[in-house]
Amino acid sequence: MAAQDAGRVAAGRPGPRVYSCRNCRTHISRSDKIIAETQELHGPATLFYRAVNIYMGPEQDWRLLAGGLCRVADVYCCGCDECLGWKYTRSHDVPNMFKVGKFCIDSPKIVVE
Ligand SMILES: [Zn+2]
Repeated sequence: MAAQDAGRVAAGRPGPRVYSCRNCRTHISRSDKIIAETQELHGPATLFYRAVNIYMGPEQDWRLLAGGLCRVADVYCCGCDECLGWKYTRSHDVPNMFKVGKFCIDSPKIVVE
């Protein structure tokens, strides 16, 4: 039922596009939740301010990322347990403070529906 409704809305009028896990097509976020497309040290990533159907691993030690030194917790898909990226938990760099609480998802691991 819900899937049919979503399909009808998507076909009927332009709206936010759904981003899903590439493995299992679990809905992860939407195009209207994107803050920026970024380039991380390991490849392209998308910064979302909200993501769903994910769970977090333990907070990691300080990690040097493209934007500076940050602490993050890895985030996993609820559907297939794939590590999709991370959530920023802390930063010392003022220009990066806005990323704290946001989700950095590896772009190759998600698909646009
Ligand atoms: Zn998945």
